[in-house]
Amino acid sequence: MDFDYDLFVIGGGSGGVRAARIAAAEGGAKVALAEEYRMGGTCVIRGCVPKKLMVYASEYPGLMREARAYGWQVEPGTFDWLRFRGRLDRELDRLEAAYRGTLATAGVEVFDLRAKLVDAHRVQLTDGRRFTARHILIATGGRPFLPDVPGVELAVTSNEMFRLEALPARALVVGGGFIASEFACILNGLGVKVTQYYRGAQILLGFDDEARGHVADAMRAGGVDIRCGTDVTALEQIATGIRVTSQAGVAEEFDLVLYATGRVPNSAGLGLERLGVEIGKRGEIVVDGWSQTAVPSIFAVGDVTDRINLTPVAIREGHAFADTVFRGVPRQAEHDLVASAVFTQPELGTVGLSEEVARAQEKIEVYTARFRPMRSLFAGSEDRVLMKLVVSQASRKVLGCHVVGPGAAELIQLAAVALRMGATKEDFDRTVAVHPTIAEELVTLRAPVRSD
Ligand code: NDP
Repeated sequence: MDFDYDLFVIGGGSGGVRAARIAAAEGGAKVALAEEYRMGGTCVIRGCVPKKLMVYASEYPGLMREARAYGWQVEPGTFDWLRFRGRLDRELDRLEAAYRGTLATAGVEVFDLRAKLVDAHRVQLTDGRRFTARHILIATGGRPFLPDVPGVELAVTSNEMFRLEALPARALVVGGGFIASEFACILNGLGVKVTQYYRGAQILLGFDDEARGHVADAMRAGGVDIRCGTDVTALEQIATGIRVTSQAGVAEEFDLVLYATGRVPNSAGLGLERLGVEIGKRGEIVVDGWSQTAVPSIFAVGDVTDRINLTPVAIREGHAFADTVFRGVPRQAEHDLVASAVFTQPELGTVGLSEEVARAQEKIEVYTARFRPMRSLFAGSEDRVLMKLVVSQASRKVLGCHVVGPGAAELIQLAAVALRMGATKEDFDRTVAVHPTIAEELVTLRAPVRSD
């Protein structure tokens, strides 16, 4: 049978764009891609990129405080949100154009429309056009999840945070994960009075306990009012703001409420179930190691599969799919030892196992260093860095590396290379320090603080 396309991709985010480009430019495939919103997906348009730019914007008051301690005569001044937002918009326009340019150069045909599947080899656009394709790749990402709480429609999600008309004076952030904790710090840095409600005992569940405790303590010291064990039972619009009631019956008032209570896969409305594509409990498309669904011609990558929901992982999955199916280079995306960073203030960088998970598996040694780094110590700050290695007693391999402090995200990238190579504690020790840096503490950790 002749197909209109070798590959039809639904979704123009990190995973979909990478797969389309490699299949077309390097695999010689005839490729089309449909995107209903803006090219670039969550990462570029309403996630990683604008978030990181907001992180940078929010760091300036701290930098100016530090500059004064270093002898500079500077005053913080005021932050012009709309000026920043205008520049942010232009940067996102530039990036979106770059994504489109990349696809055009690769020869991918783009449809700026929503698409759904008609059968295992056919898609239909919202304008009614239908196309056949030998392979279909679903890369439709995810969207914010909002719990069913009375008045929750008064809250915004991360999607709206980049489009605010003005910064609030008082903000409540609900949730304790990546997005909640990052935005709590961003808003705090920009001068907003921030309260964070988290239903559990400590924010950043799933990360190493000591590392997330360190982040939470530092966030509190920096001015974020984190309330653990607190959940919202109702939101209500009143004349002066949004009144939020917690399960303890306490009511507080805010100008903005941000819900960052997780994300769910965008798998509904694509016509998948009746084709025999398996959908999991959280709405994720179930795929095997090749990103192939139960229907052989249909594949899925990225957040819609809810494996590890990070842009670089989606990119690897999309690339591995294209290599396998269109370049004759079969390979699976690897999902172990994926490093990640939470852009809180201070940053948390992590790779490998937390102390808790490692201990449940085998006997370990734990090495930690907590210290005031030279730069902020000189400025009179109490901020401390945490460096931590979790080591296997039997193999001596470093099982986990956790860093909280300035540059943690940059540092953890290279620690991830070492862990992937199977580096032992002794390999770290044999590596001569780069002085004076924060990172050198990772190769000068002497005696274990715990061994069990
Ligand atoms: P997370 O899963 O990290 O956090 C969700 C938070 O919401 C948790 O604290 C969770 O609590 C809480 N929550 C869930 N349901 C409810 C509820 N019904 N009521 C109250 N609280 C609730 O999701 P995020 O939305 O923060 O981020 C989604 C994903 O996006 C991340 O997992 C990550 O993969 C990716 N991401 C990565 C970033 C990075 O790399 N820097 C930045 C931002 C996002 P509990 O812990 O009790 O379940």
